[in-house]
Amino acid sequence: MKKVAVLGSTGSIGTQTLDVVRANDDLEVVGLAAGSNVEMLEKQIREFHPRLVAVWKEEAARDLAVRVQDLDVKIVSQMGGLIELARMEESDILVTAIVGMIGIRPTMEAILAGKDIALANKETLVTAGHLIMPLAKQFGVQILPVDSEHSAIFQALHGEKREQIHKLLITASGGPFRGKKTADLEKVTLEDTLKHPNWVMGQKITVDSATLVNKGLEVMEARWLFDVDLDHIQVVVQPQSIIHSMVEFEDGAVMAQLGTPDMRLPIQYALCYPDRRFLKGDRLDFHMLKQITFEEPDRKTFKGLPMAVEAARAGGSMPTVFNAANELAVRKFLQKKISFLDIYEIIGQSMSRHTAVKDPDLDQILEIEKETYRWIESRW
Ligand code: NAD
Ligand code: MG
Repeated sequence: MKKVAVLGSTGSIGTQTLDVVRANDDLEVVGLAAGSNVEMLEKQIREFHPRLVAVWKEEAARDLAVRVQDLDVKIVSQMGGLIELARMEESDILVTAIVGMIGIRPTMEAILAGKDIALANKETLVTAGHLIMPLAKQFGVQILPVDSEHSAIFQALHGEKREQIHKLLITASGGPFRGKKTADLEKVTLEDTLKHPNWVMGQKITVDSATLVNKGLEVMEARWLFDVDLDHIQVVVQPQSIIHSMVEFEDGAVMAQLGTPDMRLPIQYALCYPDRRFLKGDRLDFHMLKQITFEEPDRKTFKGLPMAVEAARAGGSMPTVFNAANELAVRKFLQKKISFLDIYEIIGQSMSRHTAVKDPDLDQILEIEKETYRWIESRW
């Protein structure tokens, strides 16, 4: 039995993780955590019987405790609760399906407690990869990628030596606004932005896919996961989302992982690694598919990608500023307080005023996040 704790169990990745657990007899849920959706959490508790459940909001935690008082489950809240869940004695692996850099502390605590990590929460690696990767090595835990591109690379690398990698080729759908120019983007609405062509995901990552910030975050995520420098990571637009990413080796051979867009595959691969299991669902039909096409990303229009690379090159605390500015800008865009193009403006200005601190520790990262928020709040 592999014992699984899920951080962010009510979200897109979280609920698909529970689907994977349902389909595999040797996976068991021992802990759950979510923000505030107590109705869904109650259903999940009654189905999976976890021993520990963390809810971010204290009030929601009290409400949930009353709802499940007939069951033997401990309910905790706030950051202390997320950390208790991350470290819980019964678990073997933590699925980090929470959204945003709030995942940093629970992820680090889980590593300190010797848990393997199935990592979906890319914001954590983008801002604290220099702390997390060495810590994982020190404590002998595996970081197994859940993001589809990184899972594809991980699958393509199976058995190959890292020194033989020449280049990582990260594919991108291009998002709902592919082909548009800056002038067209002035008028796009929240509703237009939330219509991703190929994937159904949480709201934040759906907006990030439209700005191409998501691809920028993925470049930084890849750099930490696979220890490859930025000059050897290339983004390729592949609008059908059939090739999930590729690796080019020293001899020119390119290995790719293809499949229908279904996040349950990378989730299951991370949870059952190194096994491959049957997965119910559509299969690729190459006669129906007919063609797979490629384009270069439009970096002039979709500034999320070049700004992320700039942040990554500056290094230190700059990726934290890039990420924190984006998190707050996306929240404001989702609340319809700013326009789509304001997201780039907020990220760009936040980065220009920041001087990168080298190798920031956890406290510095969290302080720089707060400071970035304070500055943005005073202007937008
Ligand atoms: P989502 O918004 O659907 O779900 C987020 C989950 O986190 C929810 O369960 C929510 O309750 C929980 N959460 C949020 N704030 C919390 C807090 N303070 N305390 C406790 N729980 C909290 O998001 P998602 O689309 O599932 O994405 C999750 C992560 O996975 C993100 O980092 C995203 O970039 C990454 N990811 C998602 C997909 C996808 O297909 N959805 C693909 C690749 C990577
Ligand atoms: Mg992805």
